Amino acid sequence: MKINAQHMLEGDNIEHISCSKNSEKFKDNMPDTIIMHYTAGRNGESSAKYLAKDNVKASAHIVIDRSGKIFQLVPFNIIAWHAGKSQYSNRTGLNNYSIGIELDNAGVLKKTGNKYQSWFGKYYSEDEVIEAKHRNEHTNKYWHTYTEEQLNRSFELCELLIETYGIRMILGHEEISPGRKQDPGPAFPLDKFRNKLLFDNRKDQDVSISGIKAKVTPDFLNIRSGPGIKYETIALPLEKNQQVEILNEQFGWVKVKTTLTGWVKKEYLNMD
Ligand SMILES: [Zn+2]
Repeated sequence: MKINAQHMLEGDNIEHISCSKNSEKFKDNMPDTIIMHYTAGRNGESSAKYLAKDNVKASAHIVIDRSGKIFQLVPFNIIAWHAGKSQYSNRTGLNNYSIGIELDNAGVLKKTGNKYQSWFGKYYSEDEVIEAKHRNEHTNKYWHTYTEEQLNRSFELCELLIETYGIRMILGHEEISPGRKQDPGPAFPLDKFRNKLLFDNRKDQDVSISGIKAKVTPDFLNIRSGPGIKYETIALPLEKNQQVEILNEQFGWVKVKTTLTGWVKKEYLNMD
């Protein structure tokens, strides 16, 4: 599989479907994010054709069906309409920053007897269902599972997109439109998927930063239990010129070792 000069995929088991309603180009240095979705539809081809329609106010770059076949609707340099009203960190309207990948999946299912039914009335057997709690919810529900072929094909595609476009974030629709959207849902291994793609796979980049000694630049620098301000501080702030050793990097935060280990914002370290 490769991406041609027109920003379209070429390779086995790939079909292009024209989606002429999308024509606006991404701004410079975009896209840098991938948003994962499920279609909540009956099958991959019908969802792809639906999203490509002129009179439908949604689209996506990619639909992957349950056999792993890829439908590409929108070139990767053109903005598609998959995210809708959305927010992440200080960004809103994530369509302007991201490539949208839709996986053919019926979504949340309702149990009736020993069968599981989708919102559009189709029944699924027990071996296609998991019971799990959504990251944004408090109780268990039944969810249509993804196939190995879908998961592996989307992994392979994301690897190619990361390499081609310098993608640095992979998010679920449920994370950028919480409350309104619940895709890709708990049947999709989102955390493992992005960790593997964005961190484990970048051994050479890890080597370049991990093990490096750095110095704290501001007078005080909070050190936290995880990579973000939502994580609690775990000790008194680090102080100016204190030396730390870098262990890991994630979303602009670095895990450092001093007398303890914790996370600090990368921009406040001097690595020379
Ligand atoms: Zn979605």
